[in-house]
Amino acid sequence: MRGTEKNQAFKSLIFCYNYIMTSSEIRQKFIKFFESKGHRAIPSASLIPENDPTVLFTTAGMHPLVPYLLGEKHPAGDKLVNVQKCIRTSDIDDVGDDVHLTFFEMLGNWGLGSPASTRGDESTRGGYWKKEAIEMSWEFLTSKEWLELDKKKISVSIFKGEEGIPRDDESAEIWKSLGIKEIKFLSKKENFWGPAGQIGPCGPCTEMFYDGIEIWNDVFMEYNKKEDGTYEPLKQKNVDTGMGVERTVAVLNNKKSVFDIEPLKSIVDKVRMLCGTSHVPHKAERIIADHLRAATFILGDEKGIVPSNVERGYVLRRLIRRAIRYGKKIHIEKPFTHEISKLVIELMSGDYPELEKNKDFVIEQMVQEEERFGKTLEKGLKEFEKIPFDKKSLSEMGKLAFYFFSTLGFPLEMFFEELKNRNIKYDEKGISKGFQNEFEVHQELSRTATVGKFKSGLADHSKQVTKLHTATHLLLAGLRQVLGEHVFQKGSNITAERLRLDFSHSEKMTPEQIKKVEDLVNKQIKKDLLVSSSEMSLEEAKKIGAMGVFESKYGDRVKVYSVGNFSCEICGGPHIKSTKELGHFKILKEEASSAGVRRIKAVLE
Ligand code: ATP
Ligand code: MG
Repeated sequence: MRGTEKNQAFKSLIFCYNYIMTSSEIRQKFIKFFESKGHRAIPSASLIPENDPTVLFTTAGMHPLVPYLLGEKHPAGDKLVNVQKCIRTSDIDDVGDDVHLTFFEMLGNWGLGSPASTRGDESTRGGYWKKEAIEMSWEFLTSKEWLELDKKKISVSIFKGEEGIPRDDESAEIWKSLGIKEIKFLSKKENFWGPAGQIGPCGPCTEMFYDGIEIWNDVFMEYNKKEDGTYEPLKQKNVDTGMGVERTVAVLNNKKSVFDIEPLKSIVDKVRMLCGTSHVPHKAERIIADHLRAATFILGDEKGIVPSNVERGYVLRRLIRRAIRYGKKIHIEKPFTHEISKLVIELMSGDYPELEKNKDFVIEQMVQEEERFGKTLEKGLKEFEKIPFDKKSLSEMGKLAFYFFSTLGFPLEMFFEELKNRNIKYDEKGISKGFQNEFEVHQELSRTATVGKFKSGLADHSKQVTKLHTATHLLLAGLRQVLGEHVFQKGSNITAERLRLDFSHSEKMTPEQIKKVEDLVNKQIKKDLLVSSSEMSLEEAKKIGAMGVFESKYGDRVKVYSVGNFSCEICGGPHIKSTKELGHFKILKEEASSAGVRRIKAVLE
C-alpha cells in the first residue's frame, strides 16, 4: 500500500475505536473555519528557519512570519491561517508528561495590522483585533458546527499587568461578554509574549484551557519595547495565535494525554511491541515515541540535516541517542530506531509528503546513527565505571563531560544521567559551564554566539561557520556584479563544512560565469578587506544601498556589515574581522533550486 492509502486505511481503523476527531480532521476544520472568516491558508514552513541565525528550529507558527508581523506585506494578505510543524528542544525535559512534545503541530491564525483598537491608532491594514480574535477562538471551540467543546470546561487566563504595561482588561471584558466565568490573571512570565530579543514588538496574550489543559493562545502584539526599557504603542498591531493539534485532539477525544491519541498512540504501541510487554514505564515509551518522531521529521525535512556534534545535527543526535538510551533501559535489544521512523512515515506522510519522499535517507541515517552510538556506548560506559567522579573537582568534571562527549559520543545530559544513576552528587550548572568552555576551545566557537544558546540546542557559530557566513556576503556581491542587479538572496544555509546560497536567477550559470564569480571573491579575499559593522535606522541603511532580504525583521534599528567597498548587507552577524582569514573560496556546485531560483554550494579551503 502507498502511504496515503495506508493513511486512509488507518483512519478507518481508528474510527472503530470511537475516535471523535482525528488530527487530519482538526487541521482541515481549523483551516476551513478561518477561510470562512476571510483568511488565506499558507503552507507549513520548513522546520529549519532560513536566514535566521538566532534559532535552530521553527518553534511556533509565528516564527516564519516575523518579517510580516514587523510590517512587511504578506503576499497572501493580512489574514492568514496555517498548520506549522514545530520543534521545541526547550521542552525536552518535560517530555513524558501528558502534554509536552519536542515535535508538535501548531494551528495558527493571524491578523496582520489591526484596523483599529481601543488604544487609539488607526492603520490601513486589514487585520483584526482582540474582539474578533477572541470571538473567533470561542466560536471555533464551542460552536456545534466546529469543535463543540463543553463551554463549562473552558477557562482562560489574561495578563495581569505590571509597571508600565496595563492589565489586559479589554480581553477580560470580551471573555466575560461570552459568558466565561473562570478568568485567571497571570504575570508577564505566563501571559505576555516577546519581544523576541531585547527590543521590538510584544504584547499580552490570553490562553485557553480545556479541563485545565492549555490548548490555545491568542497573542496581541500591541507594544514596542524600546531600548530604554519602556513600552510604546506599536504602529502595526497584530494578532498571532497558536493551538496545539495533539493537545486539542486529546481533549476532543476525552483523553488525558497526547500519547493516547493517534498517531502517537500507535507509535507507543510499537515501542511496547518491540520490548515485548505492555508494562513499559510511561516516561520511557513516551520519550522514545516523541524523540524518534521529532528526529524523523528533522531528517525528513528538505534541508538535509544529519546527526553531528554541532548545531542542529547535535540536537538531532541528542534526540536519537536519548531515545536509544531509553530503549536500552526497557530492554529493547535490537536496533529499533528505523522501525519507529518507518511507522512515523507511514502514519504521517499523508499530511507531510516530504517524509515519504525522503524515506530512504531517513532510514539510512537512523540505522547509521544507531550503529555509531552502539559502538561508542559500551566503551563509554566501561570507562565511566573506572573514574572516581566523587573525587573530581568542578573544573575536572567539566573537562570529563566534554571528553565523554567528544570522544565517546555521550550527549551532556547522558553524562548527567549516568552520574545520577550512580548517586553521585554534582553541580549541573558548573559542569555545563566547564563543558561549554572546553567546547569553545575545541571547536573554536565564538564566545558571544554560544552564550545563552546552549540550552536551546548548542551554539550556532563555530569559527568555520562564521567564515562561511562572511564568504556568503562576498559571493552574493560577486553574483550581482557578474549576473546583474536582479540577483537577491532567497535563502542561506551554512554548516561547518559548506555554505549554500539560493538566489534569484533563472538560467543555469555558465562555467565562465562561475569562474568569474570565484575569481572575484578570491580577489577580495586577497585584498584583505576589513569587515566592519555599524548600526543605523532601516531608512539610512536603504539609503546607503545595503542589501537585505528580511530587512524588517531586525526592527527599526539594523546592523549593516560592509566588506571593504565590495559588499554591504543588513545582517545579524557574526562575521570575521578581515577577509584574509578566509583562505581560498571554491564553488562546488551550481544547480536549480526552484523556479527562478538557483543554488550554489561552496567551500573555503
Ligand atoms: P505550556 O505552558 O503548556 O508549555 P506554552 O505557553 O509554551 O505552553 P505556547 O507557546 O503558547 O505554549 O504555544 C501555543 C500552543 O501550542 C499551546 O497552547 C499548546 O497547545 C501548544 N504547545 C506548546 N508547547 C507544546 C509542546 N511542547 N507540545 C505540544 N504542544 C505544545
Ligand atoms: Mg511551553
